[in-house]
Formats: sequence, C-alpha cells, structure tokens
Amino acid sequence: MDVLDTFGRPLRDLRISVTDRCNFRCVYCMPKEVYGRDHRFLDRRELLTFEEIARVARVFVTGGVSKLRLTGGEPLLRRDLERLIAQLAELDADLTLTTNGSALPQKAQLLADAGLRRVTVSLDALDDEKFRALNDVDFPVDRVLEGIEAASAAGLPVKVNAVVKRGANEDEIVPMAAFFRKRGHTLRFIEYMDVGHTNGWRLDEVVPAAEIVAAIDAEWPLERLEPRYPGEVAQRYRYRDGSGEIGVIASVTQPFCGACTRARLSAEGQLYTCLFATQGHDLRALVREGASEEELARAIARVWQARADRYSELRSAATVAVSKVEMSYIGG
Ligand code: SAM
Repeated sequence: MDVLDTFGRPLRDLRISVTDRCNFRCVYCMPKEVYGRDHRFLDRRELLTFEEIARVARVFVTGGVSKLRLTGGEPLLRRDLERLIAQLAELDADLTLTTNGSALPQKAQLLADAGLRRVTVSLDALDDEKFRALNDVDFPVDRVLEGIEAASAAGLPVKVNAVVKRGANEDEIVPMAAFFRKRGHTLRFIEYMDVGHTNGWRLDEVVPAAEIVAAIDAEWPLERLEPRYPGEVAQRYRYRDGSGEIGVIASVTQPFCGACTRARLSAEGQLYTCLFATQGHDLRALVREGASEEELARAIARVWQARADRYSELRSAATVAVSKVEMSYIGG
C-alpha cells in the first residue's frame, strides 16, 4: 500500500546527491563569494558510502519509488560513480543522472556500461563568453557539447536543462532552441528559483515560462502537448514543423506542489521532502546504527506521512528570507 503525505501525495521519485562539491561556480547556484577557499565542504567520512546509498535506495524502491536521479554538487566528481550506478541499476527503477556535462567525454561510456539509462545535462548558454561567465570558472561551452555528443554516442538519451535568469541569458533562449531542435535532444527551460539564499534571488530576475514559450513560438510555431502522466513537471510543446519538442518548468509562475512526489537525499544522508526545506531527517544515523530495512522503511514512511510542504504555492516576499538549504547541498 502506498504511503501518502498529508495532501495525499505518494512518494515516487528520489533524488540522491552524491557530493556537495562542484567544479563550476554558477553565479546563481554556488557563487564564488560564498563557495570560495574557506568554504567547508563535507568530509569524506560524512558522505554516505555507495553501499549505504544503495541500501537506502532499495528501501525507497520497495516502498514505491520508481525513479532515481543522481545529482549533487556535480555527481561525476564522486570517484568511481559507475560502481554506484551498477548497484542501483539492479533495482527496479528508472535510473538517471543530472550533470554539468564537463566529465562526460571521459565518463559517458563507463556510465552507460554500468547501467545508466539516460542523462540530463545542464547548459545555460551556447555563447562561449556567456557560458564562461555563468559557470564562473571559465569553462568552455565546447567541452559540454562534446560531453553531450559522448553521451549520445554511448547510447544515452540526453535532455538539456537551461535555467533562464533575466539579464544573464534570456537572449540565449532562441539560439538554444535553434541548436537543439534538430539534434534530437529535448531542451527544457527552467525558471530561476529562490532555492537557498546565497544567490540573492529576486523575482524580477525570473523569466516567466510563458515569455520563454512566446519567444520560441514567434520563430517556430509551437503546439502544447498533453502531459504523459499526471504530475509531469515540464509543460511540453512540439514544433508544428515536426522538428522535435521543448519543455518549460514553471516552478515560480505556475507552481506544481500539488503533484510533487519527490524526496531528496543529501550526500550525508539527510532526507528532505521539499527543495525548499529548512530541515532534513537523518537517515545516515539510522543506517550506521544498523537499522534493518524494515526499520528504515518505517522511518521514511513516518517522515513522508507528516509531509505538508507546498513551498512554491506559498512563495511570497516573506518566504524569500526564510533560511533554506542550498541546492548544491540538497541536490538539484
Ligand atoms: N552539477 C549538476 C548539474 O549541473 O546539473 C547537478 C546539480 S545542479 C544543482 C542541478 C540543476 O539545478 C542544474 O540544472 C542547475 O542549473 C539547477 N539550478 C541551480 N540553482 C538553480 C536555481 N536557483 N533555479 C533553478 N535551477 C537551479
């Protein structure tokens, strides 16, 4: 029987952060001023081991989770990640990964061989200068494009996610649509969100999904597609000329908390029931105390049954000031 939260939502997706470290310093996510030399990242011993992650993931899958997504920080920075992929691939769940793509040229084949099913690559601009400024470590866009090609060549379907921030990259929307629409990679634009509080988020920096769709529709007419399943996060559109589709994720202007079936596990084993949560629940302690899978399942069910999060629907000037965990810690 499904465990439901206080709004009747089941638990279907688990995002697993495998590290809080990243080789990029994207200005809207891990700004250098905050994540500089003095920042204390998690120590190796604090991280869940692959065996611990696999054990916890198995409990979630037994409890009804059908989708596992590895994230971070930058998940490909975690050494030998393919070993974890191989363990998770044995579970009866869709297995995917979100990455900045920088290590895909070396890693894509290993990941595919280990059992990864598909990959999402974050890419916010095609213009090299703009891309280098956004990642703030001078990383060239060509290397990410190479990573996308490497993933494709390894047989992994690729989705490309672009966060749009006013004044930073809204002029990249149409060029990105032009580039990806004939290449068979689904492109999704994501509204800039007020996750964490180090990015100094402001509502006027959000480019609404409706504006993104209108900009593309003006070039290549679009038609709205029906959701493939209830609660699909992206609103999908197809090009009327048959050259593929795009998606938009309107988490700020059209929040979708009512259909949110996601939980997040931080790299140190804290369970969060909302991207905007202020507090996690310590699963690592239970695992390291030797809890059985039944005990873990009961602990997870207790957390989920008490869940009343609907942050995005309540978002207001007041919630911006609330202390939330950072995206790079909780996992995007
Ligand atoms: N390093 C990996 C990557 O680049 O995809 C995984 C972690 S990253 C935190 C996951 C996703 O969150 C990325 O697509 C990133 O652009 C997105 N993200 C980070 N901060 C965001 C924000 N404030 N609003 C919307 N998306 C954000």
